[in-house]
Amino acid sequence: MWFKRVVVGLSLVLACCPVGAQWVDKHIARDENAYRCGSHLLGSVERATRAKSHEYDVLRYKLALSLSMTDSRLQGDNRIRFRSNTSALSRIALTAKSMTVDSVKDALSNAALPFSLDADSLYITLGKSYAMNDTGEVAVFYRTTTNRRGYYFYTAQESGTEPVGYTMSEPYDARYWMPCYDEPFDKATAEMSITVPQGFTAASIGRLESRVDNLDGTTTFHWATPFLTTTYLMCVTVSRYAVLQDQYIRPSHDTIPIVNYVWRRDSAAAREYFRNIAAGIRHFETVFGVPYPFEKYGQAAVRPFSFGGMEHQTMTTLNQNLLSNESLVMHELAHHWWGNMTTCESFADLWLNEGFATYSEALWQEYLGGRAALKRYMLGRKRISSWRNPIYNPPAPLFIDEVYGKAAWVLQMLRKIFGEEKFRELLRVYGNRYKYSVVNTAQFQQTAEEVYGGTLSWFFNQWIFGTGVPRYDYSWTKSQSGTVWTVALRVRQTQPDPIFAMPIEFAVQTALGKQLFIRRIESRDTTVQLTLNAEPQSVAFDEDEWVLKESANLVSVARDEPTKPTQFRLEQNYPNPFNPNTVISYQLPVTSHVKLVVYDVLGRELQTLVNTRQSAGRYRITFTVTANSFGSGIYFYRLQAGTFSETKKMILRK
Ligand SMILES: [Zn+2]
Repeated sequence: MWFKRVVVGLSLVLACCPVGAQWVDKHIARDENAYRCGSHLLGSVERATRAKSHEYDVLRYKLALSLSMTDSRLQGDNRIRFRSNTSALSRIALTAKSMTVDSVKDALSNAALPFSLDADSLYITLGKSYAMNDTGEVAVFYRTTTNRRGYYFYTAQESGTEPVGYTMSEPYDARYWMPCYDEPFDKATAEMSITVPQGFTAASIGRLESRVDNLDGTTTFHWATPFLTTTYLMCVTVSRYAVLQDQYIRPSHDTIPIVNYVWRRDSAAAREYFRNIAAGIRHFETVFGVPYPFEKYGQAAVRPFSFGGMEHQTMTTLNQNLLSNESLVMHELAHHWWGNMTTCESFADLWLNEGFATYSEALWQEYLGGRAALKRYMLGRKRISSWRNPIYNPPAPLFIDEVYGKAAWVLQMLRKIFGEEKFRELLRVYGNRYKYSVVNTAQFQQTAEEVYGGTLSWFFNQWIFGTGVPRYDYSWTKSQSGTVWTVALRVRQTQPDPIFAMPIEFAVQTALGKQLFIRRIESRDTTVQLTLNAEPQSVAFDEDEWVLKESANLVSVARDEPTKPTQFRLEQNYPNPFNPNTVISYQLPVTSHVKLVVYDVLGRELQTLVNTRQSAGRYRITFTVTANSFGSGIYFYRLQAGTFSETKKMILRK
């Protein structure tokens, strides 16, 4: 699900977000210890991993609906096939709210079944006892006029275009328009026969099996899916629509139909807005490592709609005001893997739907604009001041930004901790393991730990089950010993408790380029040493934004004053071998006339690098080979300073 307020906030943030620096495509020698947890961290928390169940399992809903399309009248017949999960099932309780039930039958024998209703449930006495794994089928005939809860009807005047009727169920409103077992963990296959006045089109989940014009001036659209679907993902959307057909063609040549339902006046613009859906499917298949898991993809536009979009399985409902918002389109598309294929077992685990779909928006931006776009998007997705709750088990109204934005940051952080290849492996293994099923947070953590090869409870405890975001101050000093430079980097966490433990990437700029270091920062006040072969010029703290933080402020830079040299010395050049640059360092204890010359193996003087009077101190000269006369091979450099003379060998490798 996507909220409109998210859209507004996002566009504001994007508009004022600075363009980020390009990702430094440089190998980082992984400091494995940086990713391991400190012994003082929180212990692992026991959490239930057993899949939820109840006394029966719904196998299939076969729903026939009639919609008046002049008001909110809805009449239905829901045939529910179930399997007993107990040794003696003689009564079932379905969730049903604000509806009139006219009759209930055993759908196989056609015998009337006794039933009773209370505020939340429909209790059916089955007429026989079902043993474990026995299957049965009941048919519930019902009516409702409830409007704008579960089922929403708007007249042409109210919608501004055409009469529109649609269902919107997440989390617990399917029970207002169909009697069902309305928990995300009981998935079933579904058939939806929707009868509407002629001229209207009914869009729903699965494939359109038939469309029949009836003699009474109505049309029946028969949709069916063999894929397991949770009740909050079932839908009916009806209006006078134009139908836009498209398709996604896999490299293997099989095709997935893409069918969009929009009002006629929007159809030309919508074709343009939706042009990237096939590319989105292809990209997500690649990144997630799991083929698009359903028989079609579709979208139906509605208005008024209190949300941005809703990922109804294979028939996303889109807010007509937001058709041009590609992030929204990609969010709902990505839900077809994360939320629809693997569904949160309960809404405590909602971040497994929404955090993944939100991070998929970032992945789409990265596809379009590279790492700079990813960074920009993630910076725009920080709403730290509004994040007060743990991501796990969000309080009402459930759809808080922690399970969207903060959870997207969780995936960004995991991606860095895992590395690109392992992160993709995680998505692939997780997606395949819980395909067409439900999953909870503990199961995701377990899968992540398997792929990672170690505990991640330190990570989940602070980011999923805990609250807060770190705020860092850092300062650094540099010192030199011979050719080796050391940065002493002090990092302080200045946020109120808790203290976070995270591997952080530091980029140190030197004359020879950028060197990357990953260090684990896990205390209130931490000092780490970074060793370099050239003088550090700047130190950047997580410059590519892989770690969620309020800020990282550089508070001071200082240089340890080196002691005055006590003797002449010529250092080995670095790097060596080299091409085309290398640095030659030397030191003088007293003011001297200095000559630094490069020779070839025959002793011929090729280039004079220094020939001047210099005061006592340490010096660094960068020697750059530009002339073609320097071929690969051995060269010498000689320092003469007063009576001191020393020669060293260096190798040019072209
Ligand atoms: Zn969503």
